Amino acid sequence: MRETPITVIGAGLAGSEAAWQIARLGIPVRLMEMKPTDKTPAHQMDAFCELVCSNSLRSNQLENASGLLKEELRRLGSLVMTAADKAAVPAGGALAVDRHAFSGAVTEALKRHPLIAVEERQVREIPAKGTTIIATGPLTTDTLSAAIAEKVGGNGLYFFDAAAPIVRFESIDLSKAFRASRYGKGSDDYINCPMDRETYLSFQQELMRAETVVLKDFEENRIFEGCMPIESMARRGVDTMRFGPLKPVGLIDPATGKEAYATIQLRQDDAAASLYNLVGFQTHLKWGEQQRVFRMIPGLEHAEFERFGVMHRNTYLHAPKLLTDTYCLRLDENLFFAGQMTGVEGYIESAGSGWVAGVNAALRRLGEAPLVFPGTTALGALARYVSNPTHVKFQPMNANFGIMDSLDGRFKDKRIKNGLISERSLIDLAPFAERMNVLSQMQAKKLDEADRTDESNTTEKADRTDESDISPFQRYYASPS
Ligand SMILES: Cc1cc2nc3c(=O)[nH]c(=O)nc-3n(C[C@H](O)[C@H](O)[C@H](O)COP(=O)(O)OP(=O)(O)OC[C@H]3O[C@@H](n4cnc5c(N)ncnc54)[C@H](O)[C@@H]3O)c2cc1C
Repeated sequence: MRETPITVIGAGLAGSEAAWQIARLGIPVRLMEMKPTDKTPAHQMDAFCELVCSNSLRSNQLENASGLLKEELRRLGSLVMTAADKAAVPAGGALAVDRHAFSGAVTEALKRHPLIAVEERQVREIPAKGTTIIATGPLTTDTLSAAIAEKVGGNGLYFFDAAAPIVRFESIDLSKAFRASRYGKGSDDYINCPMDRETYLSFQQELMRAETVVLKDFEENRIFEGCMPIESMARRGVDTMRFGPLKPVGLIDPATGKEAYATIQLRQDDAAASLYNLVGFQTHLKWGEQQRVFRMIPGLEHAEFERFGVMHRNTYLHAPKLLTDTYCLRLDENLFFAGQMTGVEGYIESAGSGWVAGVNAALRRLGEAPLVFPGTTALGALARYVSNPTHVKFQPMNANFGIMDSLDGRFKDKRIKNGLISERSLIDLAPFAERMNVLSQMQAKKLDEADRTDESNTTEKADRTDESDISPFQRYYASPS
């Protein structure tokens, strides 16, 4: 290898994609992964790029932001998407995969790549020299987490994600909900959903009855004490929620001129005010149950959920303060992060951030301008969301149309609107995909020439088989086998 490699730590969804893209740009990679010797409590397989839970990568349709993100990555030559498409199993409009075939294909492609050297060991500190991408995921080991926390300082690293559900503004019924701040403090910052006694009581009953997710061993109840799930609050007593997040005091419902029996508050979640979160509604309820029960709230009967509430162990950075839109640490241009650590959430979102971080780390090495996708694309919108310094209270985010640039005009049919947003995205993405292709081909050519020069300098011209006429780089860089 001619150049100093770029180090990628963690061969999960993000690290695998990052390593592949760096190598595609002709730069050697040192890929450090602690499997198979050490494993997080959720990982079981020896192979890279393991899906720790569901084998579904969510929607595969362009009318869905998750489907759009997949298509963007396909067009950008993503290793993860190539492997996922090859390993697909029937799943209606979703893309689900045979997890062993999927991880196997990614692992083989990475291990066979001549520019990628795999080191199977646990990393305990951030390498002092060279460019590094940390992609060790939501269950990053304690020692490395401590090293990252020290590097980013203060309260830069979180270990637990307790996020309330987020709904789209346009799906809130403002004939029932009203804008106000408690006791009129500040402007009308919150959207408030008033409840009468009868609705409150049946809501409390349904919350107690609703199905919750089964906790993993490592997600003991202990870690949730400081931040109680809404359903636990409902179980504590009939009025507990009314003295907590459903407190009605200081909120006058303009429809009655009085305080309601209980009031749920929704707080703006993005700069464009297209998303609102349900304040204090962190929950363990299953996603389908969240939709069913939370739609009982007056004003949210037709709410569209952009993300559901979660409570789980999750190691992630306060990205708005710390990262740029290329997932580079603001205070150290040699250090990039990728995957769930950056505050993106989900398998493909993690792979997507790996693509962006990997390519930009490589471009920096090549002395090329960074590649920053516009907010009209799912990839660009995600990077913009997590690196937006105006976010004070930051929660991880998955791909959704709410964080993308809006589309002018009124649309009765949401599917048509979403389809047009996707169409616009793929048009805007095309020059970026083209630039990546040109750069990777240029690098491939350079490496070929260097290989040939090396060979003719060091050896007498020997018999060459047909295959040896193709350089290792040419053989492997194009697409995974
Ligand atoms: C229990 C659980 C269930 C989940 N279920 C889903 C789901 O159903 N759908 C979904 O979209 N998302 C799910 N997620 C989120 C999921 O983890 C991410 O979407 C995705 O795996 C994140 O990708 P990543 O590359 O950031 O991390 P990972 O895929 O976790 O990869 C991190 C890699 O780094 C390695 N590593 C960690 N520490 C070190 C170290 N110190 N040295 C070397 N290597 C190290 C790990 O072994 C691992 O291979 C779940 C997460 C958890 C914890």
